Amino acid sequence: MDKRDRLRQLPAVHELVNRCSGAGCPTHLLTAAARQVLERWRKKILENGIDPPAPGELAAETAALVRSRLSPSLRPVINATGVVLHTNLGRAPLSEAACQAVAAVAGGYCNLEIDLETGSRGERYSHVEELLCDLTGAQAALVVNNNAAAVFLALHVLARGREVVVGRGELVEIGGSFRVPEIMAQSGAILREVGTTNKTYPRDYERAIGPETALLLKVHPSNYRVVGFTREVSRQELVAIGRSYRIPVMEDAGSGVFFDLLEFREAGESLIGESLAAGVDLVTCSGDKLLGGPQAGIIVGRADLVQALKESPLLRVLRVDKMTLAALEATLRLYLEGKAEEAVPVLRMISLKNSEIERRAIFLKEMLSASLGEECKLEIMPGSSRVGGGSLPLAELPTTLLSLRPGKMTAASLAGRLRRGDPPVIVRIWEDRVIIDPRTLAPGEEEQLAAALKAALRGEPGTPAGEEKAGGESDWIPLS
Ligand SMILES: *Cc1c(COP(=O)(O)O)cnc(C)c1O
Repeated sequence: MDKRDRLRQLPAVHELVNRCSGAGCPTHLLTAAARQVLERWRKKILENGIDPPAPGELAAETAALVRSRLSPSLRPVINATGVVLHTNLGRAPLSEAACQAVAAVAGGYCNLEIDLETGSRGERYSHVEELLCDLTGAQAALVVNNNAAAVFLALHVLARGREVVVGRGELVEIGGSFRVPEIMAQSGAILREVGTTNKTYPRDYERAIGPETALLLKVHPSNYRVVGFTREVSRQELVAIGRSYRIPVMEDAGSGVFFDLLEFREAGESLIGESLAAGVDLVTCSGDKLLGGPQAGIIVGRADLVQALKESPLLRVLRVDKMTLAALEATLRLYLEGKAEEAVPVLRMISLKNSEIERRAIFLKEMLSASLGEECKLEIMPGSSRVGGGSLPLAELPTTLLSLRPGKMTAASLAGRLRRGDPPVIVRIWEDRVIIDPRTLAPGEEEQLAAALKAALRGEPGTPAGEEKAGGESDWIPLS
């Protein structure tokens, strides 16, 4: 049989659609999917000269394509990596209180910009400004879309066309697209770098200061550390220089610590309030890193500087919506009420005791070993979790891992099945083992995870086998 005969064996689009109808799918989607499936097979037949599949197989393929088109793209996943702030998995999971606050305003109207007392027009930032001031000791506060936007806005408003002095050891890149020199250039400010990569002295700053200097900027080296033969200009030193030359000092604090957790102290992090108390004039940080709130850029500091940012037309471009404000307000209230450590998932996960993690790892192992038998070798082993999100890069949080060594497939293939399962599960891979770190499981997620693991190991529907590229993308160990 030549290629033409094989092609002729493929059904017409309407025939394939008829075979699939009755499943209650919208016809236009069914037609588009049938065309796509038939096109795919035409190509395969022409390229490889293979036989066309049975009609039932084509129908199943078409139905699967329609199902995937109809199911949401953005979905919850189980994070079994032990990386708490996983940028690719949405960074900080919100607290119960924050989720409720979002739900309460999402579907209806709210007092976003109206003063309910007087009936006059209010400011959206008022819902969080006082809270931020209470928690940090700031005179004023503002919130924008993310920390990159916060830095950009501040540089644009306070230093456009003028110079900003930054130490060479602090010219950071975060996650590819946030790079201090590039953000600076986009904002219209002129970067004046001083010192060297490993050593910068107060006199380097002083020599760079001139009539064009608008700001002294300190950037938190979030995702790296300069170690060894080093000298960095401390916050206090920079503030002293700023004072004597009457130039404002700004700090990009990166992760934004609002709570005095032992793990943060040990990693040398300081609180946002401490930066302000040391005399820094303006501090920016992320809302969805160590604060554990929604994606947002928090700006706190001197009232006149914050006011200048509020008056910029650019603020309108970077403004946050009601859902961000609802989530942020609820998160900040947990801090104010002294409930943050137990109620904010990020803080809870970072401070989780290893004995508790071990208990969960053993619980998981027992749930699995009862039904898996010889299919998979299960082992409990010590390890470390990461904070992630470019925060506390050197901090190793002691944890207890569950290692799975599947008998009939590679670890990469098991990881792929887990990722394509429902709910999707994201794991670490290490030496042909799938590694589960219970630290980042939500409370009660163990049962769901155990069911997903069983399904993936057995190749149940929805977890097709043999689709992993050998040694391919599944070795991806997500750590950022
Ligand atoms: C994370 C980070 C940013 C970017 O913050 P986003 O909220 O992701 O925009 C900027 N600067 C530093 C130092 C950071 O750590």
